[in-house]
Amino acid sequence: MQTTELYIDGAFVAPAEGDSFEAINPATETAFARIAAGGATDVDRAVRAARRAFDQGPWPTLPATARAAALRRIAAGIKARLPEIAAVETRDNGKPIPEAEWDIGDAAFVFEYYAELAEAHERDGATTVDVGDPTFTSTVSTEPLGVVGAITPWNFPMLMAVWKVAPALAAGCTVVLKPSEFCSLSCALLAEVIDNADLPPGVFNLITGTGPEAGAPLSDHPLVDKLAFTGSTATGRKIMTAAAAGIRTVSLELGGKSPFVIFADSDIDKAVEWIMFGIFWNKGEVCSATSRVLVERSLYPALLARLKQAAEAITIGAGDAPGVKLGPIVSKPQYDKVMAAIAAGKATTARLVSGGGRPEGVETGYYIAPTIFADVPREAAIWREEIFGPVVCVNPFDTEDEALTLANDSVYGLAGAVMSDDLERCERVAAKLRAGVIWVNCSQPTFTQVPWGGYKSSGIGRELGTAGFMAFRETKQITRYDHTQTWGWYLDPADP
Ligand code: NAD
Repeated sequence: MQTTELYIDGAFVAPAEGDSFEAINPATETAFARIAAGGATDVDRAVRAARRAFDQGPWPTLPATARAAALRRIAAGIKARLPEIAAVETRDNGKPIPEAEWDIGDAAFVFEYYAELAEAHERDGATTVDVGDPTFTSTVSTEPLGVVGAITPWNFPMLMAVWKVAPALAAGCTVVLKPSEFCSLSCALLAEVIDNADLPPGVFNLITGTGPEAGAPLSDHPLVDKLAFTGSTATGRKIMTAAAAGIRTVSLELGGKSPFVIFADSDIDKAVEWIMFGIFWNKGEVCSATSRVLVERSLYPALLARLKQAAEAITIGAGDAPGVKLGPIVSKPQYDKVMAAIAAGKATTARLVSGGGRPEGVETGYYIAPTIFADVPREAAIWREEIFGPVVCVNPFDTEDEALTLANDSVYGLAGAVMSDDLERCERVAAKLRAGVIWVNCSQPTFTQVPWGGYKSSGIGRELGTAGFMAFRETKQITRYDHTQTWGWYLDPADP
C-alpha cells in the first residue's frame, strides 16, 4: 500500500518519527493508502523553511507577474491530472465523481483567478492620501503578510486548502498546509503538482497528520504570522486561542446551520431542487448547507410531499458508481455523529418524513439515507446544531417577520437563502438575514470572484474574491515630511 510523504523545503520526506495512519474508503470501509503522520518536529522544520523562504526571498519580492506565472503552472498541473485527483478525492471522501471533478476544476480556476488578481493589484500600485497638511505626503500600499499556517477540513479536501494556498502564494506569502487527517490524499497530490511548478524551496510545505499532533504545533508556532483555518467552531476556538497567545492574525471559516426561507409563490419543483442541492449535495457535508428550511404555511404540505418523493428517488451508492447522487459519509466518526443526531431528532416531537438511518439493504459503507424532519421544535438539537450530514429540518411559517425571526435565531451566520417570485421581497429578506452569504432563488452556488465567510460563530474574515487576497497582505503607510525648514517644535524654523 502506498504511503504518502511530507513536503518540506522543496523535498518529499518521511516524518521524523516515521509514523503513518490509514486512509479509509468510506464506501468499502477498507484502507487503501497510508498517510504520513507529521508531528511537532516536522512542523518546526516546515515553518522554519517557510520563514527562510519569506525572509530571504525572493518569493515575496518577485514581480507579481512571476508569482502569477507560477500559479498558472500549478493550475495547468491540476488540470492535467484532474481525473486522477478527482478519483482520489472520491475514494477518500466518498463524494460522487462528478462532484469531485467539479471541486478539482474549481481548484485550478482559483489559482488562475488569484494569478490575475496579483497582477492587477501590483498594477494598481500605492495610493497617495491627502492628510490635510501639504507639508506631508502619505502613501498607502500593501505587502505580503508573511508565513501562513493553513489548517483545513475533509469536506472539500483540496478545494478548501486551495482557497487559502492560492491567494496566500499570489499575495507573496509562504505556506505550511495541514489538511484533515480524514482526507489528506488530494493535498498530497497538490504538493506533487506544486513541486513540478518550480516554486523556490520552502514557499509551499505540506504536513499531513492529526489535529493534536500536527495542527496544534502549527497553530502554536511563534514563527507563523497568520493562521488560516476552516473547520468546526470548536476547533476554531482553539486556533483563535493559539493565535491570541502569539498575537497572530487569524481567519476562521467555521460551521453553520443556515436557513432557507421559501415563500408560497415559489415554483414547487424549483424549491425542491434547491432544497435538495442545499442539503444533499456533498452528502450535506457542506458548511453552508441550508439545513433549516422554512416554508410559508400554504405551500408546506405540498412541498413536503414533493420533497419526500424526490429525496427517495436519489441514487445512493459509491462515489465512483454511475448515476450516484449521494455517496457515503466521510468516516466512521462522522457517520456515528450524524446517526446520533438523527436518533436525538427521533426522540423529539419532530415528524420523520423520510430516511432516518441506513438505506435499506446496504450492508457496507457509511451510508445514510436522505433524511427529512418536519414540525421540528425550535429548541431541538437537530434544529439548532450543525449535523454536517444529509439531514434537513423543515418548519412552516405564517409571516415574513416570523420567517426572519426564526431564520436569524441561530448562533451561526454563514449563509442563508430565500425563494420567492417577488424579487422585492427577496431583496428585503436578503438584507435582513444575518449571514455573510445570501442566495436568492437558489442555494449553494459558490463563485471564486465573490467573498465567502460568516457572521457570528461562523467565523472571522473572508476568503475568495479580492478580500481573500487582501487577507494575505499587510497594509503599510509611508508618510514623508516635505518641507525645507525644520518642523519647529523644538528648534526655531527660522534658525539656519
Ligand atoms: P475539525 O475542526 O474537526 O478539523 C479541521 C482541521 O483542524 C483538521 O485539519 C484537523 O486536523 C485540525 N485540528 C483539529 N484539532 C486541532 C487542534 N487542536 N489544533 C489545530 N488543528 C486542529 O473540522 P472537520 O470535521 O474537518 O470539518 C468540518 C467542519 O468544518 C464543519 O463544522 C464545517 O461547517 C466546517 N467547514 C466550514 C467551512 C466554511 O467555509 N465556513 C467550509 C468547510 C467546512
